Amino acid sequence: MKRVYNFNAGPSAMPLEVLEEVQQEFLDFKGTGMSVVEISHRSKAYQEMQDETIALMKKLLNIPEGYKIVFLQGGGSHQFLMVAMNFLKGKAGYINTGVWSKKAKEAAAFYGDVYDVATSAGDNFSFIPDMNEAGTFDIEPDTDYVYLTSNNTIHGTEWQTFPHFDVPLIADMSSDFLARPVDVAKFDLIYAGIQKNVGPAGAVVVIIKEELLEKANDALPPYLQYKTFVDKDSTYNTPPVFCIYFINKVLHWLDRNGGLEAMEAINRKKAKIVYDAIDRSEGFYKGHAREDSRSIMNVTFNLATPELEKEFAEAGTAQDLIGLKGHRSVGGCRASIYNAVPLAACEALAKFMDEFRVLHQD
Ligand SMILES: *Cc1c(COP(=O)(O)O)cnc(C)c1O
Repeated sequence: MKRVYNFNAGPSAMPLEVLEEVQQEFLDFKGTGMSVVEISHRSKAYQEMQDETIALMKKLLNIPEGYKIVFLQGGGSHQFLMVAMNFLKGKAGYINTGVWSKKAKEAAAFYGDVYDVATSAGDNFSFIPDMNEAGTFDIEPDTDYVYLTSNNTIHGTEWQTFPHFDVPLIADMSSDFLARPVDVAKFDLIYAGIQKNVGPAGAVVVIIKEELLEKANDALPPYLQYKTFVDKDSTYNTPPVFCIYFINKVLHWLDRNGGLEAMEAINRKKAKIVYDAIDRSEGFYKGHAREDSRSIMNVTFNLATPELEKEFAEAGTAQDLIGLKGHRSVGGCRASIYNAVPLAACEALAKFMDEFRVLHQD
């Protein structure tokens, strides 16, 4: 068996321990004599596992009273719509920091008026708007909510601290969910498609404040209302059973390894190793993100030409450093170093970057 260093952006690397555990238990889930994908989602064995998953998530994220957690399907893209359907009555403000916030805003425009609260579009989405700069955030009257993307997977920027507004705050945390502690109380709704940092594609975690839920549009078909899934504890219809089981394993893995503070410390160390390789290259690698906005999950950079970038990604692949090509919409190179990517992978990448530079620098 071969395992490579996986820098894919999503679906992406999962903890080896978790994969092994899942493999071991796959034929017999908790002594039922059936696989977790063969048991009823109404069974006691399933319910206990889901309850434990929610309890673990509350513990790890230190989620205060007054919030509910549900598991949905349809990916992040479905949340773009669902957020707006449920909460956009008049106007919503979007902080436009990249492709995913832009798509979310475009989806919301089907349901009401949307506007940019702040944006980094003019500078190629290379930074997160500065919270301390007066007048950066322009909230119009009668705004139902403000929406942001905590980590911009494609551009490699990430919010370092979050802003506060007098209206509900909604965040897409798909690509840095569980990578660091988050003060959940600052948000009214957080969602994360799990296929970046937490599990296989097919489920979204939604953490929603009960107060916000009370304001939701109830003139929607039940399947499109958050309230339905909250009231039915995620089992209004068949939930993504295998994904939730996998999340459970990843949460246990995080818990045994010191929780989110410990995870953040390792992630910062890993990111520094790769950013250092960029910074000592004297412009051979050009980091896309402004330094104060650098993501600890997705490191994005350019080389002198698209041809050289292609060569770089191919040379990486030849050394079992997989997934270094940038997103098709922006090009360049990207190394996604999610929770499950080990420190050794970042060291191997930095070494490869140095060697590739020496070979190609004039
Ligand atoms: C990948 C991603 C999405 C899109 O997720 P899908 O599940 O493919 O719809 C949305 N937001 C962010 C931040 C992402 O990284």
